[in-house]
Amino acid sequence: MSNFNYTNDILKSLELNSINGVFIPIPYPHSDSCFRFEKLSNGSIIKYVNIVSPSIDKPCPHCGCFNHHESKGIRKIFLTHTSNGHLKTILEVTYRRYKCKHCHKYFKDAIPFRFPHSKLTTIAAQSCLLGFRENTAMAVLARAHGLSKSTVYRLFYNHIDIPLRFYHLPSTISIDEFRATVDEGTFAFHITNPISGKTLDIVADRRASYLKNYFIRFPYNERKKVKIIVMDLSGAFHSIMKSLFPNAQIIADKFHYTKLIRENMVQARINCCKKLKDVSLSKLIKRNLHLFDQYEKRLNEKKAWYRPYFRKHMTNKQLVKAILEIEACEELKTNYDIYQNFLKIINEPCNDYRKALNDWLDHIFITENSYYMRTAKNFRKKWFMPILRSLTYTTYYIRKNKKIKTCFNNGFIESMNNKVKLVKRNAYGYRYFQNLRKRILLHLGFRYDII
Ligand SMILES: [Zn+2]
Repeated sequence: MSNFNYTNDILKSLELNSINGVFIPIPYPHSDSCFRFEKLSNGSIIKYVNIVSPSIDKPCPHCGCFNHHESKGIRKIFLTHTSNGHLKTILEVTYRRYKCKHCHKYFKDAIPFRFPHSKLTTIAAQSCLLGFRENTAMAVLARAHGLSKSTVYRLFYNHIDIPLRFYHLPSTISIDEFRATVDEGTFAFHITNPISGKTLDIVADRRASYLKNYFIRFPYNERKKVKIIVMDLSGAFHSIMKSLFPNAQIIADKFHYTKLIRENMVQARINCCKKLKDVSLSKLIKRNLHLFDQYEKRLNEKKAWYRPYFRKHMTNKQLVKAILEIEACEELKTNYDIYQNFLKIINEPCNDYRKALNDWLDHIFITENSYYMRTAKNFRKKWFMPILRSLTYTTYYIRKNKKIKTCFNNGFIESMNNKVKLVKRNAYGYRYFQNLRKRILLHLGFRYDII
C-alpha cells in the first residue's frame, strides 16, 4: 500500500486523467500537498492545483529529432477550471520551453486540456457553452462557472454558431411577427409548423423585400408544396404570401378576427354609456363590462349575486338580459346582438358556414351599422375566404400516440412569442438581432455547432 500512486486519482477527481504522464500534479514547494487554498475578501475560496510537466525527452515538433534541445526555462499559466458553487478551481500549470539544436527553432510543451486562445480549460469552456441551452442570463452563467461576463459573451459570440437554415417546407406553415431589435429590422418574422409544433426559422425583418429574398432561396417546386398558411389579419403578409406560394390557401386566425369585431362592440358599449342619463346604470354596465364580451350561452346561470340596481339577486345571464331590456339601452342591444350572432357562428356547429357568414355580413350592410361597417367591408373584400376556411378546415395531429382533431389557428406560434418575450426579458433586451436569434433558437432546443 505504501507505494500506491495517488497521481491518477487526483487527476481523475479533476476530470483530467487522460493527461497522466504528460502533466502530473506535484506538491507545492515547502508543502506536502499539491493543493493550495486562497480566501478572497468576499468570502469565496479559490483552490489552486499545482500541475507540472515532467522533464522527459519529447521530439521536436518541427524536425522530429530527440535529445537535441536545450531548455530555455519554465513558464507558468493559470487556467480556470470547473467551479463548484463557492469553490473555484484554478490549475497552476508549469510548462517548459526548449530550443532545438538541430533546426534552431523554439517550441514548448503542448497543454492538451487548454481551450485554444483563452485562459480556460476545455472542460470549463464546454460546460459554460452547454449552459446556454437554458434561458439564463449571461451574468448568471458567469457567476455559476466562475468566469467574467466578457469571457462568457466571447465564448457565446465566437464559439456557438446556428447557421442559416435550409429545410424542407411542410404543407402547413404558420407565420407571425414579434418586436425584435433595432439593428436589422424592428419586427422579426417567425415561421413555425403548427401541426408538428416546431419552429422552422426566425427571420430578421418582416418587410416584403427581405421576405422575398428569404423565401426565394427555396426552389419553385419546394414552395409549391405549401398548401396552407395560417396568419393574423395582416394585409401586407397576405399579398406577399400569395405571390411566393402559388398553391397556398390562406387561413385567418380565429382569435384575431374575433378581436376586431369585439373592439367594435366595445366602442358601441362605451358610446352607449356616455349617452346614458342614468349614471348608476352606466356604472353598472362599466363594472360588468366583461360580461358583454362573453358568448351569452356561456354566462353563469347558477350562482346569483345581489344587484343593488335591480334590488334583487340575479345571475350573470339574468343581469345582462335585464340591462338590455331597459329602453335607454336599445342601441346597445342591437350591437350586442350582432356581436353575439357572430360568436354563435364560431361556437356552434353549422351546416353551411358560408351562408351564415354571408347573412351576418349582409345584415350589417342592410342596417348600415356604423360601428361594424368598416370591419365588415374589410372582411368582405379581403378576408371572407380565409375566415370561412378557418371555420371549416380541420386536421389531425399526433401527441403521445393519440390522434387529436384540431382546427387551424395561430395558438402555437403565439405561445412561442411568449417564450421569445421571456428570453428578451431575461437579458434586459438585446442590441443585436443575431444574438437574440441564437438565444431563442438555443432555448427552443435547436442543435448547435460548437466551433
Ligand atoms: Zn528541431
